[in-house]
Amino acid sequence: MMSANKIYDLVVIGGGPGGGSCAYYAAKNGAKVCLVERRKILGVPLSCAEGISKSGLESCFQPRPNWIATNVSGAHLHAPSGIKITIHHPDAGYILERKIMERDIVGLSALAGAEIMTQTTAIDFIYNGKTFEGIIAVHRNKRIELCAKYVALACGTDNRLLNKLGLNPYIPPDDMIVSAEYVVGGIPVDEGYPEFFLGNEIAPGGYAWVFPKGNGLANVGIGVGFERLNGKLAVDFLNKFIHEHYRTRYEIIERITGVVPVCGPLKHLVHKNVMLIGDAGRVCDPFSGGGIANALLSGKLAGEAVAKALSGEDLKIYENNFFALKGRELEVHRIARKILITLSDKELNELGAIVDELYGGKTFSAIDSIEFLKEIFLKHPRILLLARKLIPALFK
Ligand SMILES: Cc1cc2nc3c(=O)[nH]c(=O)nc-3n(C[C@H](O)[C@H](O)[C@H](O)COP(=O)(O)OP(=O)(O)OC[C@H]3O[C@@H](n4cnc5c(N)ncnc54)[C@H](O)[C@@H]3O)c2cc1C
Repeated sequence: MMSANKIYDLVVIGGGPGGGSCAYYAAKNGAKVCLVERRKILGVPLSCAEGISKSGLESCFQPRPNWIATNVSGAHLHAPSGIKITIHHPDAGYILERKIMERDIVGLSALAGAEIMTQTTAIDFIYNGKTFEGIIAVHRNKRIELCAKYVALACGTDNRLLNKLGLNPYIPPDDMIVSAEYVVGGIPVDEGYPEFFLGNEIAPGGYAWVFPKGNGLANVGIGVGFERLNGKLAVDFLNKFIHEHYRTRYEIIERITGVVPVCGPLKHLVHKNVMLIGDAGRVCDPFSGGGIANALLSGKLAGEAVAKALSGEDLKIYENNFFALKGRELEVHRIARKILITLSDKELNELGAIVDELYGGKTFSAIDSIEFLKEIFLKHPRILLLARKLIPALFK
């Protein structure tokens, strides 16, 4: 709990993976931190399929055993024709118990010295005409002000505070994936092998997924390009998908909806003395829609940058370091998705055949996503033509 009139080095808005990671790394490196989270219970409700690569998680946190629902050892990819391609990749990643992980990361921040205020909604910034001096928030119906040298905006896809910063939060409709997901008990799954289903009938502009969680449970979801909903809801696509693919009896345990920004990162992640973290900075992977790893990473780099800025370095090292690590990958993935969503089901089947030929049934210890895209795109004549925009980024 905060003490009155205290000036923090950093106020973090949002206790998701991005905000928790930022608070932890800033506090661990000596900054006085306060994290505000509007929810009463961290991580609840969940809006995620909980998949993450091993490297994505472990470059920021050593996972505790109870953060992991299952280990991922490969994947099944389903082309629209129904052909299934299996890729083996031991130790590829995890399906998380994200609610536990999120709470634990904020707990680790508290242990490192951060103050945590739940049920606290940031509503505006304190601005002196030159820099931001903190935030205005509502804590259990009471208006409060928290003063800070730096602010980290890690509020996910809630755009209201981006607006207050004077930034344009607009996401083009086709760069916005609208998702629906059920936690389901009783459908047949292959433990350790998340499944991905492509097709313009199944999930136009996106894909459907089945992520096994162990103990007979799975996260079954669908993401559809906003512009391709055609008056339907994402949940309509999800119900159709489950109905057509699973004839066994199943029970829905949780219902989840959410939006994933796949437009690629904002040009700048530092705005005066405010840093944009995770989905607030649109650093979610545009190809997969996965955003946990980049939220953790951007939070880590931002937290470290605050500690350095307190000793005189430029806060911009946050965005410089982030783009040095992730800029090219995000750009390639953004363009690759743009290409993928223009393909007909016939072309997706042809692409599936190429993936099958190169990767099907084989075991890999690492897959570089840029090399993967390069290999499969360059083997398909029409995609090669479409991919000419990608060429400079692929060969950079
Ligand atoms: C259906 C679905 C499935 C997904 N599946 C995956 C997946 O399998 N793997 C993956 O990597 N990614 C997945 N994602 C994306 C992933 O969930 C996000 O990219 C990730 O959560 C981003 O983390 P974040 O910390 O930036 O934001 P969030 O996780 O959204 O956290 C933001 C936090 O800020 C709080 N907040 C917001 N506004 C305020 C305010 N004004 N004041 C105080 N607190 C505030 C919120 O309550 C929330 O706790 C999925 C997304 C959806 C919608």
